[in-house]
Amino acid sequence: MSIQASVLEELLKSSPQLRPQLYFKASLTALSHAMEDQVLAAGVRMPLVIASFQRERFYRQESHRYERIAALTPHIYVLAAPETSFMSESKEYETIAFDSDDQLSREWHLVVLGQNYTACLVCQERQTLAPSEQETAGLPAMDQTRRFEGVWTFDRQASCTAARILLDRIALYRPELRAKIEQAKTDYLVEAVPGLSEVDPDPFAQRLVTYLQAGQYKLLKAYRAMSAQERRERLVNLITSAMRRSLDPNEIFKVAVEELGRAMQVCRCLVYRCKATDATVPIIYESLSSAAVKSVVGQSWPLQENPLFQAVVQQLEAIAVVDTQIAQPVDLSSLDLLVDRWQIRSWLMVPVIYQGRLLGMVELHHCRQEPYGWSHDEMGLVEAVATQLGVALIQSESYANLEDLNQQLEALERTRSNLIAITGHELRTPLSTIQVCLESLASEPDMPPELRQVMLNTAMTDADRMRKLIQDFITLSRLESGRVQWHLEPIALDECVDLAVSSIRSMNREELPQIRAQVPLELPQVQADGERVVEVLSKLLDNACKFTNPEGEVVIEAKTNGGKMLEITITDTGRGIEPNRLETVFDRFYQEEGALRRTAGGTGLGLAICRQIIKGLGGQIWAESAGRDQGSQFHFTLPIAPAVVGNSSQSSSPTNRPNSTPNSGQNGQVVEPPPKGRRSSRKRAALG
Ligand code: ADP
Repeated sequence: MSIQASVLEELLKSSPQLRPQLYFKASLTALSHAMEDQVLAAGVRMPLVIASFQRERFYRQESHRYERIAALTPHIYVLAAPETSFMSESKEYETIAFDSDDQLSREWHLVVLGQNYTACLVCQERQTLAPSEQETAGLPAMDQTRRFEGVWTFDRQASCTAARILLDRIALYRPELRAKIEQAKTDYLVEAVPGLSEVDPDPFAQRLVTYLQAGQYKLLKAYRAMSAQERRERLVNLITSAMRRSLDPNEIFKVAVEELGRAMQVCRCLVYRCKATDATVPIIYESLSSAAVKSVVGQSWPLQENPLFQAVVQQLEAIAVVDTQIAQPVDLSSLDLLVDRWQIRSWLMVPVIYQGRLLGMVELHHCRQEPYGWSHDEMGLVEAVATQLGVALIQSESYANLEDLNQQLEALERTRSNLIAITGHELRTPLSTIQVCLESLASEPDMPPELRQVMLNTAMTDADRMRKLIQDFITLSRLESGRVQWHLEPIALDECVDLAVSSIRSMNREELPQIRAQVPLELPQVQADGERVVEVLSKLLDNACKFTNPEGEVVIEAKTNGGKMLEITITDTGRGIEPNRLETVFDRFYQEEGALRRTAGGTGLGLAICRQIIKGLGGQIWAESAGRDQGSQFHFTLPIAPAVVGNSSQSSSPTNRPNSTPNSGQNGQVVEPPPKGRRSSRKRAALG
């Protein structure tokens, strides 16, 4: 049955002198308990008790009290909207079920009537926000925040009126109780019995205060839990945002170890990356509470031999050791030396895990005399930070992978555009020349032999140019996409220079300018890939000879630049480079006069290849020139081999030499150009 009339409104209508007030749920609970206890303490003889609960669940919390009150009086009426098994029935007391949309489900009533005692509580719930709205408004969906408006009084007239309204209502829900209800009205809705002293309100007030205090204590506990939670969240947020500011794992570890050490106020905080199978780990990231605590940075920290580490790895859960002197929860007696040396009294180890994978470990140490009991909250906080650390590390890993991928894509893109350029122009030009020559040869059988020779030579020159172009293109593509294996080893530079000079000599060139090598014997070795260095030197020398008259000069020099690099310079007295072209010459396919008009040959890829090689070897390459016809200088640097850094007097003799040939030149020698047309009979003369 469902009735929409409000008991409170009816009461206020018939007793206009009553002033409704606002009550929080906690206050109503305290008042109700105090009223029920008054009855239970036999302070009221044979009372009438009517209690209307909004829902069955609220009644269930109190049902044990009503079972006890039932032993004192036959007139107990309990109303509630059923949720599971509550129904209208007559057992130890009368239960009355109403529909969940009945107005009673929005009201809270408790009426107690005795001969010398009356009290009533008639309230209606104030509409608060729905739980979902509370969430959006940022309020916790708390039962204790529910508010009611109504009347609480000892007034006999008001209590009798409330009892009458409720009894009439009960008669509607349960007509079979009419006779009992009429009897109750007759017995209870009467004036106070004169001469009978009213119940002493003191015990009631005492109970009320006790309940209110209990409510307050509960609130305080809830508040403490909330503020601890809030503190934890704030800390985690602080540390997380500090870690997330960087995608560099080193930075992340640094921030995590510092912030966590500070927040936890531990003597020592360590964070390290590790795998479950690692035997030891070098300690890099640490924070200490004071200078008095010994630093373990640089130590090789045992993992395989550490029972605590092994236990954490096995359980993939944090383990707290309150006292390292006691074999609980892990026996650390095998680590006595380590524990003593680093004065670890209390030890907390928390794994950094991501999707079940161990990424690292967070360790907190207390080095005090007294053992330290790690609280639940503290462990929760460290675990939360460790989780965030795992996420930050995975994020930085993914970012690094993405960067790698990006670089690979960029390299692929460069190769693609190289390919388009080479097929679109650089290969088409020689190909059409070859085609024209071959077609002419085929279609004109009467062509004079000299012209036929010219045609054949042209076709062969262009075929050779195509071969070189493709060769250079493949080399450049490999370098740009990082698909090159570097064979780094200490190399004597003079040997590389000799090899490059002989390779230039071996090229079929009629006239070469004078080539002079000035590579001091005492120069330190370089850490490089010998074959690549020879390739760079050959290309630069080839250019220098190409763009310099036979009367001119090409000088190769090398010196240490005061730091950890060796600087090699190739100077020519040739046609020079305009200042605004000094960078452009390193671009792919750059040729000053354009490929079609060039006489010197070349692919336009030589300097681009040199730049890639030098970059790959950890050096730099650049060009200098005072301008047209002022000659050019090409410089490049290479790292000095580590063993000889700071010991430039060491000779380069007993080291790896790039495929030396018996004819290669010597340090500090002039390498004379071969006599015109007699390349094979060249000779070298020592410099004075
Ligand atoms: P190429 O195979 O055409 O020589 P490079 O990449 O080696 O290709 O050189 C690119 C261009 O840079 C050359 O075509 C030329 O215009 C200019 N260049 C290179 N070296 C010199 C030099 N020593 N003197 C003058 N110009 C040079």
